[in-house]
Amino acid sequence: MENTDKQSIENKLAALRKSYYSSLPSKTRHISELWKNVTLGDADIETLKALQLATHTLAGSGATFGAITISHLARSMDESLGVLLELERQPDEIEKNDMDELVSQLEQESVAVIAEDAGVDLQQYKGRDIQQKIIYIVADDTHLAEELSAEFKREKYIVRVFDKLDAFKQACYEQKPGAILIDMVFLENTEAGAEVMQEVKQRYKPAPPLVFMSSRDDIKARLAAVKAGACRYFTKPLSIEKLKQTLGGLTRQVAHTPYRIMIVDDDRELAECYAVLLNSAGMLTRVITNPLDVLDNLAGWHPDLVLMDVYMPECSGLELASVMRQDDKYTTVPIVFLSSETDMDKQLYALDLGGDAFLTKPVDYQHMLSTVIARVKRSRWLARLKTDLENSLHKNELQRKEIEEKEERLRFSQYFANIGSWDLDVQSKVMHWSEKIAPLLGYVSDGVDPTYDAFLAAVHPEDQQQVINAIETSLNSNIAYEVEHRVIWPDGSIHWLLQKGDVIRDASGEPVRMLGVVQDTTQRKQLERDLATQKEYAVQANSAKSEFLSRMSHELRTPLNAIIGFAQLLESDEQQPLQEHQLDSMNEILKASSHLLELIDEVLDLAKIEAGKIQLHIEDMPVIDVMLESYSMMIPMAESKNIQLDFNIKQCENVIVNADRTKLKQVMFNLMSNAIKYSQSEGEVSVLCEACAPRRIRLKVADTGIGILKERQADLFKAFNRLGAEEGDVEGTGIGLMISKKIVEMMGGELGFQSEEGEGSVFWVEMSTVNDISSDQSLDTEVTHS
Ligand code: ADP
Repeated sequence: MENTDKQSIENKLAALRKSYYSSLPSKTRHISELWKNVTLGDADIETLKALQLATHTLAGSGATFGAITISHLARSMDESLGVLLELERQPDEIEKNDMDELVSQLEQESVAVIAEDAGVDLQQYKGRDIQQKIIYIVADDTHLAEELSAEFKREKYIVRVFDKLDAFKQACYEQKPGAILIDMVFLENTEAGAEVMQEVKQRYKPAPPLVFMSSRDDIKARLAAVKAGACRYFTKPLSIEKLKQTLGGLTRQVAHTPYRIMIVDDDRELAECYAVLLNSAGMLTRVITNPLDVLDNLAGWHPDLVLMDVYMPECSGLELASVMRQDDKYTTVPIVFLSSETDMDKQLYALDLGGDAFLTKPVDYQHMLSTVIARVKRSRWLARLKTDLENSLHKNELQRKEIEEKEERLRFSQYFANIGSWDLDVQSKVMHWSEKIAPLLGYVSDGVDPTYDAFLAAVHPEDQQQVINAIETSLNSNIAYEVEHRVIWPDGSIHWLLQKGDVIRDASGEPVRMLGVVQDTTQRKQLERDLATQKEYAVQANSAKSEFLSRMSHELRTPLNAIIGFAQLLESDEQQPLQEHQLDSMNEILKASSHLLELIDEVLDLAKIEAGKIQLHIEDMPVIDVMLESYSMMIPMAESKNIQLDFNIKQCENVIVNADRTKLKQVMFNLMSNAIKYSQSEGEVSVLCEACAPRRIRLKVADTGIGILKERQADLFKAFNRLGAEEGDVEGTGIGLMISKKIVEMMGGELGFQSEEGEGSVFWVEMSTVNDISSDQSLDTEVTHS
């Protein structure tokens, strides 16, 4: 403490003493008057009590302010009066004389008193040095030590880490740390930490705060720690946060709120004197001289401790303590009684009423200070524990609520998705079901115990083995659990459930629990069944249609061939030649009949393809043969429309493909005839071959014709769809391309196209070749027709 502070406290004390001594004559006068009333014989028991209170108070305060004689005189009176009050009688003559003598001495002494210097050594109340920042961490687990060191450095401590006890001891000789954090167990000994501290602590008085860390939680280790001077004992794994708080408290790195002490004494000077002393030790004080004001002040000022006189007018300290203890808010505020009461029984009674300690007047200041500090420390520690507990309860409550909310959300989502979940303990076969499982299995929710047997019992008998197998497979291997099965509800209805789940295993891979999710798939199953039936119908209807088309085509062909045959006979009859107008009609008949035949042939082809009845004669054959044959077939068509033909098939020479010769020719002819059909006269058609990839050839037919509208291109390969050509003069059936595409695909090739309306189109067939395509083929095959 600074000298000036000490000076000012001493000045305050001197002033208080002065004021006290000057009040002594009036105090003794008051005692003398009360005594007079008693001797006059008209004193009731209340007067005796008031007199005892006054003498009792004077005994205490006199000693406190160094008025020792006054204190002795008052104590003698107090004791005698105590006897009278206990026996509830008036004093006898001898007692009266003694008391008269005491009162008179008291009056004299109060006037003559010369203050004796109480000689309070304020130095002893000097506050502790709170700036200890050096921490020694002693641990052979270097990883832990480094982690702690980093944490404490962040808190602005100066940290030294030791993994060897000798180095630590040496450091202790050099510098005293603010606190020591030490392991209990070291390689050399399971209590080596405690042993070295026994040695180190001899060096310091007082020893720095000591905290043990240990994986041992037995009483022997804890006792060894206490003997070594431990303030705290932490078991591993450590809570770093708690450790930081503790060290903060021990080294006062954590801001220390001054202790708040309420002093309740009807003797103001005395109370002020205590206040000054406590203030000098860094505490805040509030003096209350009227005990009836205590409750209001408790509520407004929140003291850490109440220092309370026992004997006071209006209400005794003991009564006040009882009143305080009736209120839950103040049950934990420590109460320290101050009284000149020396009777042990009375002191114990006072403690029984809710006091925490009893200090006898005249109070030894050091004793008072230690008592106050010890009680406040403990009550603050308890308060902190209480707050921690409340906080963790609050946290638990929040977590509980959060879990409840999550469960509620899960419950709702399971409810709306018609999903349930279960959890099976593999060993005990105890099962937990979520709310939805029972109704999914067909049970009334609270009408069944959630067991594995009840679960299996609901499964359709024909599917039970499948479910058992799926569970066992999942338990015995790492295959996820998935099974779809039927359940029979009590009303006999059958429902489908899809179960998915997995197994939770322990560290050794043994199955511990199995979790599953169950979903009602009855509706989906029904849809699947409906779809399968419809597909079946569609397939049947399609094959019936194909069958019908194929039959009808046959039936139509025979009479049509007869019509064409007889018409040709008539047309070529030289004996009876047809007249000019009859010849025209015959030509129309022949034209229409051959169109009809073409249609019938194509429909027949289509029907065969759709019915899967088309037979391909696949063979390795030179692609150039097909190209030349189809080309020669289209020359007359091209000539009739005056179309220029470019034929460049040099890349095809010697190229062998694996295909049906006739069908490939049919396809190429279809593409070439379309190119001519859908070109204006004097247009251009090019036929060419290209290697598009190693062993892959593209047979291309390009025209400069009408092209195909972008938006109609998607309908190109649909049967009987002529993309609007049916409104023009070009004859056709609208199924040629579709048949061509299917044939090419059956031969393992692809048919593609590119077209721009008004610009022309390119159609191609792409096929794998049996042999390599050579790049320098002869040019003999390049032909141009016009
Ligand atoms: P169609 O017997 O009508 O020619 P296709 O199946 O061969 O039947 O062709 C279907 C439709 O595709 C044709 O009606 C025509 O509208 C169109 N088309 C086919 N090839 C060409 C082409 N080279 N240029 C323009 N349009 C074409």
